[in-house]
Amino acid sequence: MPQFKTLIVPITSVFPITHDTKGYHLSVPADYGYKAGQFVTVEIGIPQADGALKKAKRSYSIASSPTPHPDLLELCIKLTPGGIFTPWFLQYIKAGDEVTIQGPFGTFMLYDHDKPSAVHLISAGSGVAPVMGLLRDLTARKLEVPIRWISSNKTPADICYREEIHRIAAANPNVSIFETITRPDGTEWGGHTGRLTVDTLREWCVDISTSLFFICGPPEFVDAVIAELRALGIEAKQIRKEKYD
Ligand SMILES: Cc1cc2nc3c(=O)[nH]c(=O)nc-3n(C[C@H](O)[C@H](O)[C@H](O)COP(=O)(O)OP(=O)(O)OC[C@H]3O[C@@H](n4cnc5c(N)ncnc54)[C@H](O)[C@@H]3O)c2cc1C
Repeated sequence: MPQFKTLIVPITSVFPITHDTKGYHLSVPADYGYKAGQFVTVEIGIPQADGALKKAKRSYSIASSPTPHPDLLELCIKLTPGGIFTPWFLQYIKAGDEVTIQGPFGTFMLYDHDKPSAVHLISAGSGVAPVMGLLRDLTARKLEVPIRWISSNKTPADICYREEIHRIAAANPNVSIFETITRPDGTEWGGHTGRLTVDTLREWCVDISTSLFFICGPPEFVDAVIAELRALGIEAKQIRKEKYD
């Protein structure tokens, strides 16, 4: 018996997150049983020139937390220009439509037996989705450990959930934020710039030997950050990753 479920679920709301990214709320049964950080696959039928519907299925991380929302999945979907799924999905899918989902999948999550002394949530671009779920979950469950939010984006306009992340940090002294922009030219950005380096990570990471590291984003970003964390002496078993292949 597969552990995952296949469900046809309604989209209850659609909202902008950035210039090229939208949020979607999907209504699921209250016993859906997902963990913050997991992902689902979403399947839709895309109309073709001959009128036929061509099925397309893609994976999307869950940006919501089951605490306090066990019956809601929030997806954070970024446009991939030239892609098959996202141009159609972002343009045409609206509240009231139904989609087929499978899941929840993945091991990018905190397990009950985890007792980290600190949690590092590291992301690039739309890789923010599952770490946002984890941040919301850790906050809702009031886990009393330092939470280091480390994010890399191309420009300030590409930062997802910025207001909420800063609101969470303002209300919770355990949460600290490091944001960097890799393409600052022409923006009003006064913060950190450039890619994450081993020096930045050394400065921002805490409890190196006893904490957990969650890294999500494009494969080259995830691999580069892991190489830098390993250079700091962090063990593979402390690192959980999700690559958006
Ligand atoms: C576990 C997991 C979780 C994920 N979570 C998220 C998430 O939360 N949010 C999110 O936005 N994404 C997420 N992704 C990525 C997502 O699954 C899709 O890969 C992404 O949305 C692109 O889908 P697409 O169909 O629009 O692009 P695709 O059609 O799959 O195209 C991908 C790339 O190939 C190029 N391409 C397509 N067709 C051609 C062609 N004929 N010739 C040359 N190049 C071509 C496109 O330009 C694009 O660069 C996740 C992926 C994984 C594996």
